[in-house]
Amino acid sequence: MSERKVRVRFAPSPTGALHIGGVRTALYNYLFAKAHGGELLLRIEDTDSQRFVPGAEAYIIESLKWLGIGFDEGVSYGGDLGPYRQSERRDIYRHYVQELLDKGKAYIAFDTPEELEEKRRSIPNFQYDASTRGSMRNSLSLPREEVDRLLSAGQQHVVRFLVEPNVEVEVDDMIRGRVTFNSSVLDDKVLYKSADDLPTYHLANIVDDHLMQITHVIRGEEWLPSSPLHVLLYRAFGWEDTMPRFAHLALLLKPEGNGKLSKRDGDRLGFPVFPLRWVDPKTGEVSSGYRESGYLPEAVVNFVALLGWNPGNEHSEVMSLEELVRYFDLEKCSRSGAKFDYEKGKWFNHYYIQQSSDERLALLLRPYFEETKYPFDLAFVTRCIALVKERAQTLSELFDQLSYFFVAPTTYDEKTVAKRWKAESASQMRELMELLSTLSEKLPSEDTEGRVKAWLEERGYGMGAVMNCFRLALVGAAKGPHLFDITALLGREETLRRLARIIEVLG
Ligand code: GLU
Repeated sequence: MSERKVRVRFAPSPTGALHIGGVRTALYNYLFAKAHGGELLLRIEDTDSQRFVPGAEAYIIESLKWLGIGFDEGVSYGGDLGPYRQSERRDIYRHYVQELLDKGKAYIAFDTPEELEEKRRSIPNFQYDASTRGSMRNSLSLPREEVDRLLSAGQQHVVRFLVEPNVEVEVDDMIRGRVTFNSSVLDDKVLYKSADDLPTYHLANIVDDHLMQITHVIRGEEWLPSSPLHVLLYRAFGWEDTMPRFAHLALLLKPEGNGKLSKRDGDRLGFPVFPLRWVDPKTGEVSSGYRESGYLPEAVVNFVALLGWNPGNEHSEVMSLEELVRYFDLEKCSRSGAKFDYEKGKWFNHYYIQQSSDERLALLLRPYFEETKYPFDLAFVTRCIALVKERAQTLSELFDQLSYFFVAPTTYDEKTVAKRWKAESASQMRELMELLSTLSEKLPSEDTEGRVKAWLEERGYGMGAVMNCFRLALVGAAKGPHLFDITALLGREETLRRLARIIEVLG
């Protein structure tokens, strides 16, 4: 094969939300393209009208944009070799179906669904192929005049690929090595259906990969059994010289490692299997997404990249998209399935949250503020985040940990109350209020701390006893950052209000 510019494609079918396995396929295509100075295109394979789901295409595009997986060409990106949506390419496919018919590599079949069903019932393991096609109703078995008559009468038909039996077909897979198939296992696949005047997946996929000058096909393992058929189609067209190389990615497995990862595993164990929230347009069923669950896109990308590939011992597993491009090696992808270790995903998210600037995090939290109607002041939220982000694994957790900066506690953690709130606590809090009222309105952290400590010493009060009750008043529990950093953000008036309230509630 002559050296061609690397061109790869992500070719999803819009049949629902993009599964995390599809995200990995898109990402590996992206990394491969970038690593080779090549191009990536987005093709929508929507020839199966039965499985078409409205909204799925837009969902796929938005997901990939959120993750930062950009395309050079394709649906919503434009380009010279479009249209990139298969339902808009009927004329092109019609032409190539005719070409196969003219070359004698395909034939027309009139068997009705009922007739096919009957065969399947009466013949065990019935397969439409060299051994059976002579007894079926098609352009190979029927007289020419009969075929013409049926066609001009507008009879529904399909075009089938003529598969020669007993041909060894080799697929040279970049991950799996050489895989050999015998053509006899293949049936005479339907390439085109007159009923919707559209080709099936196989024909459209091959024709488009050829016309769009695709050099490498990187896709999920579930397509491996189709690859010998695809090789035969390339040969039938005489396109062997530009046939892409294949790479089939191993399955994503359940966290326990037994069987394929499914949406139900996500529901069962509490993690999303989709990049964005998805509402099924038919059933209304809602599935959670990484974005809405408070993940950063770079964390998801880093995590997903490592499902079936790793950079080797000399590099850290923490990698930006640019670093992934630098180290990614398709040929080092694992042949065996990759366990979906979502705990690792959380670890990455925690890591990337710590790396993010407080201001970026504040902006990302804005939608949470809009939903809860807490006032959003960028500078203030940024300061609060700096105090609490250390412990947050997701943006949602980060937001929860901020809540006491925006709403005063109305209840107090029972265990802490039982342990800390003593007979003298109320009067100590009253004294503390008196002291704070004499301080400046902003309660600067160090200054306040010094004054409060001096007062504790003077009165001989236990530091732990007083401070824990103080914390309980401000936060509602025995948690949170340095107390005087909290008071500095709340300010004097709010701090006093919260102290007054705890005295009232706990007495
Ligand atoms: N439309 C197929 C899918 O949804 C594409 C398979 C391929 O990449 O060839 O997975």
